[in-house]
Amino acid sequence: MRLINAIKMLMKEHGWFCAGLFLMAVGISFSKHMPVHSSSAVIFFGFAVSIFPCIAESSKVEQSRTDSNNSQLPSLKFAVQKLYKEKQMLSDQVDELSAVREVSLAVGAILDFSEMIRAILDLVTTNYGISKALIYLQSDDEMWYEIVGAKANGKDISPARVLQKRIKIGEGLVGKSALERRKIFEIRDGKGTVAALPLSAKNRVVGVLKLFDPDSNVLNAEKCRKLHAVAGAIGIALENSRLYRMAVTDHLTGLYVRRHFERRLEEEFKRSMRYRTALSLLMVDIDYFKKVNDTYGHPTGDVVLKNVSAIIIEESRGTDIPCRYGGEEITVICPEADLSGAFRIASRIRERIESYNFKYGDLPDEILKVTVSIGISTVKSEMKTRKELIEETDKALYEAKRSGRNQVIVSESAKCNSAVVA
Ligand code: GH3
Ligand code: MG
Ligand code: MG
Repeated sequence: MRLINAIKMLMKEHGWFCAGLFLMAVGISFSKHMPVHSSSAVIFFGFAVSIFPCIAESSKVEQSRTDSNNSQLPSLKFAVQKLYKEKQMLSDQVDELSAVREVSLAVGAILDFSEMIRAILDLVTTNYGISKALIYLQSDDEMWYEIVGAKANGKDISPARVLQKRIKIGEGLVGKSALERRKIFEIRDGKGTVAALPLSAKNRVVGVLKLFDPDSNVLNAEKCRKLHAVAGAIGIALENSRLYRMAVTDHLTGLYVRRHFERRLEEEFKRSMRYRTALSLLMVDIDYFKKVNDTYGHPTGDVVLKNVSAIIIEESRGTDIPCRYGGEEITVICPEADLSGAFRIASRIRERIESYNFKYGDLPDEILKVTVSIGISTVKSEMKTRKELIEETDKALYEAKRSGRNQVIVSESAKCNSAVVA
């Protein structure tokens, strides 16, 4: 009883540890006078009492840790969600950057304007699976957006066949997108989706890309966002090719200038010699053009020259290179075209011009007729320079003029080299 009172007092005054020590000391001191198992029990009990505060303390710590963990759970969940969102954003940005790189590689190196338009339309319709794409280019006065290329269901559409050829800035989807410099995405009730993306370069909206798909799952908001990300790269490429076109084309006729003709003919001549591929040249001259100027005035002469050039561009193949050689003389470089192929192109041009009604006034009967003479030649293995090809073609043109005009004449030397001329 005295022992119990002593322990109680020790616990009260000196805590569990001292009481435990006291018990262990008692157990050790009386071990000789007590049975072994009793003294061991007292020592063990003393030990347990001495470490009791530690166990109690550690369980308290564990409890408070669990409590604090529970209170931190919502903020941890929030942090995980935030991290997930950031990861998603980063992976979207990586996607966008690789798409921009892909587009830059696909169109960045192209200088030729028509080739550029084709490449952009191919990219949008093939890579992104959009069924219809149209490209509008800003006019020189910066007030209009004019159609320069379109593609629908895998086929090129002539800009002449597009209904909305010209859209004023601020008007319609295209004009609004250009004015407000933002992408516009619309879901049309049961009729698919439509989008207009501004194509910017040098802080100017140089063009607008209009997209349409009857399936709203194909052209959806996500794809529209991705395309908007690559629109910057498209805009810069488009502007570069537009500037290049300005530098190499004649303002009145839209044909390539003489310097470009010489450079391209040199390139094609070398290629033809190296790979033994066909290359032909056409030289077109308007018959009695001086008389047109004298009769109807120089401005009408300009309109005739412009229309003749447009017909030549339309009747040539996409790979042909029509150039203003000088005055009213126009050359067409025809890569991969043999004499019969070149003859077909020349005949189409001559026939279209012969049947065309050139207007010189507003009245329906104020029309005039014009014809052209065309000389053709083709490369031969013995030719040393492009100049020989030009001379041969010029001789053929001279012959066409001399022998009556409004006809296509093949150069004598080319005829000797070619078995068939249709
Ligand atoms: P042909 O070729 O059948 O022998 O007769 P032609 O009257 O066409 O002969 P020529 O080559 O001597 O005359 C070409 C005329 O084309 C002379 C020039 O005033 C006119 N011309 C050249 N460039 C332009 C132009 O940009 N605009 C207009 N309106 N006329 C031009
Ligand atoms: Mg002439
Ligand atoms: Mg002439």
